[in-house]
Amino acid sequence: MVKVDFKDLDLEETRAWVEKIGLETYRAKQIRRWIFGRQAESFEEMTNISKELRKYLKSFFMISQLKIAKTEISLDGTRKFLFELQDGNVIESVLIPERDHYTACISSQVGCAMGCRFCLTGRQGLARNLKSSEIINQVVQIRQTMDHPDELTNVVFMGMGEPLANYEAVKRAVKNMISPDALNFSRRRVTLSTCGLAPEIERLGRELPINLAVSLNAADDKTRSLLMPINRRYPLKKLTETLKRFPLPRGGRVTFEYVLIEDVNDRLSDAENLAKLLKNIKAKINLIPFNLCNGTPFKTPDEGSILAFQDKLVRKNLTVTIRRSKGSDISAACGQLRSCWMS
Ligand code: SAH
Ligand code: SF4
Repeated sequence: MVKVDFKDLDLEETRAWVEKIGLETYRAKQIRRWIFGRQAESFEEMTNISKELRKYLKSFFMISQLKIAKTEISLDGTRKFLFELQDGNVIESVLIPERDHYTACISSQVGCAMGCRFCLTGRQGLARNLKSSEIINQVVQIRQTMDHPDELTNVVFMGMGEPLANYEAVKRAVKNMISPDALNFSRRRVTLSTCGLAPEIERLGRELPINLAVSLNAADDKTRSLLMPINRRYPLKKLTETLKRFPLPRGGRVTFEYVLIEDVNDRLSDAENLAKLLKNIKAKINLIPFNLCNGTPFKTPDEGSILAFQDKLVRKNLTVTIRRSKGSDISAACGQLRSCWMS
C-alpha cells in the first residue's frame, strides 16, 4: 500500500483521513503540530501519542523529507540549498538575510514551461510540478538549519517555476504555511510571484488572498510578448483589469517586478508607459537589474540608466525600489536558479 504523506494534506484533509481510520478528529491537529510546529521527522518523536497508536499511524502514513544535496553560502550571507527529490530531480531554494528577518525564496516546479527569454529556469523547460509536500518541505527544512528559526518570517514564491501553473499543490502548501496549527506564517508575509496567469490570479484572489507580485518586465504588449510569451495569451489589458479586482488589505499593494534590460525596456519612454499602465492600480514597483545569464543576448543597464529610470517613476509619484541582487556569487540571484550543480 502506498502510504499517505501528512505533508501533502491540509487540515481538512488530515481530519478526513484520521476519521477514516477510526480516530478522533482532534488527532489531526495534534499530529500536524508535531509535524509542522515541532518538525518531527518520525512518529516515534510524538511522545504524547501512545506507542500502539503511533504504530497504527505508521501503517497508513509517512512523513516525507527532501534530501539536502548541497548548500552554498554567499559572501553576503545568502544561502542556496539544492534539494534532491525522490525521483532524482533537483530544485533550488534560497535563504535571504534581510535587516531584521529572513526570507525563504522557494520553488514551485522543476523548471518552468513559460519560456521567458531572460530567465534560466525558463530555458530549462518544465520537468514536472512539485507536490505540496515538496513545496512545504523547502520551508520546513530551511528553517531547521537556522540558529534562530523564528527569524524566518517571510516566504516568496520566486524560485524555480510558475506557482500559478501548479495551482492546487501551491494552494495546499500555502494553507499549511499560514495555518496556526502548522507553520503559522502571516498571510501577508507569504508572497506569490507570477508571470501573469490572469484566470488563476482571479481564483487566488477568491480562494486564498495572499501577497501578490507580478513579473511585468515591460509596459507595452510588443516588448512584453517578446520577453514573455505568456503575454500573447494574457495581454496587458487583461492582466491589469484582473489585478484591479484583486482583493488587497487596507493599504495593501501589488508588487510589480520589472527586470531592467539594456536597450530593451530601460528607456525613459518605457518608464513613462509603465507609470501610465499602473495609474489606477495600487502598486509598488521593484526594479531588478538584469542578472547576467549565459546564452541570452541581454545586458544589464549601467547604473546611471537604472537610477534615471527609477527617478522618472518616482516623479510620477510611484513607490519604487531597486532590488540589489543578493547571492550572485553563488548564482542564487533572481533568474539564476536552474539546478545545474550536479552536472
Ligand atoms: N514564475 C514566477 C516566479 C519566479 S520569480 C514569475 O516569473 O514571477 C523569478 C523572478 O526573477 C521574476 O520576477 C523574473 O522576472 C526574475 N528574473 C528572471 N530572470 C532574471 C534575470 N536574468 N535577471 C533578473 N531577474 C530575473
Ligand atoms: Fe518561468 Fe518566471 Fe522564469 Fe518566466 S520568469 S520562465 S515564468 S520562472
